[in-house]
Amino acid sequence: MIIVFRKDASEEQIQTALRKIESLGYTPHLSRGALKTICGVTGDDRAIAESEFDQLPGVESVLRVLKPYKLASREFHPDPTRVEVGGVAVGPGNFAVVAGPCSVETEEQVESTAAFVARHGLKLLRGGAFKPRSSPYSFQGLGEQGLQILSAAARRHGLTVITEIMSEHDVDLVGRYTGVFQVGARNMQNFALLKALGETRTPVLLKRSMMGTIEELLLSAEYIMKGGNSRIILCERGIRTFETQTRNTLDIAAVPVIRRLSHLPILVDPSHAMGDWHYVPAASLAAIAVGADGILVEIHPDPAVAKSDGKQSLNFPHFEDLLGKLQGLAGHLGVAVT
Ligand code: PEP
Ligand code: MN
Repeated sequence: MIIVFRKDASEEQIQTALRKIESLGYTPHLSRGALKTICGVTGDDRAIAESEFDQLPGVESVLRVLKPYKLASREFHPDPTRVEVGGVAVGPGNFAVVAGPCSVETEEQVESTAAFVARHGLKLLRGGAFKPRSSPYSFQGLGEQGLQILSAAARRHGLTVITEIMSEHDVDLVGRYTGVFQVGARNMQNFALLKALGETRTPVLLKRSMMGTIEELLLSAEYIMKGGNSRIILCERGIRTFETQTRNTLDIAAVPVIRRLSHLPILVDPSHAMGDWHYVPAASLAAIAVGADGILVEIHPDPAVAKSDGKQSLNFPHFEDLLGKLQGLAGHLGVAVT
């Protein structure tokens, strides 16, 4: 349920409505927008009648939210959300480029990547230390040592780390080193992890799973938001279809659809979507053109020797070339590449 206040509603009238919501056992979520002040009500609100509120002074109307997710919905929060991460506002006006290797492998590899990313004026460094690999025999990541390598390099170059967390038991450990928790596709519905991240106030990059619908993605965001953490960045990274020429099928349509359904920012991961570096620039340009808030892209100083996802990683010259193209388009689209 959403309570829309009149433009001339007084602070006292708003507070009276909030107290009433709480006294009925529900949670109010006040949102003061440029045009309207509204209050979302969470809890199982099927038992309350609109008439409980629409007669209150200062209330203009009461609406039922039919979507199963509420805090993540546009109805609850009409203005787009900007998530501040390491000096970058991920959201309207910016196109955030998060770059780095699939996995943290060595100090030299991460140092050269961090230096390169910083030299291009970018601020966000990705890299996995806990890797969710399909095969238990594949490289699983360096664990805490990888987190140390990543965060030390990021600190030296003034960057913020985005790294994956796979278990709710690792929140403290990973949280000591990262600026953003990445929830990978395979963990989009790891509800214990989502709930644990909801208890933190650290931004979360939530990736859509390869079998997840847009609604399921937004419901996963809702799990985190319900705990009180609203600093969520969504990420479309390709879904599984019958097509085999690409690793996944980039669901570029998800960007405008999510934009309409939700106020949360959305990135595109062209690397895992395409699975082959040759296609990564085209998918990245599609992302900026379709209105995504940025990309999460894999780069490597020498993709041929990468321990994971070398095939889809851009080398530095190819990434530089892509950045130039993104900057060219960004000017026309009225966004800044950051
Ligand atoms: C990653 O970004 O490192 C990753 C493992 O991606 P995904 O979870 O989308 O497969
Ligand atoms: Mn990868």
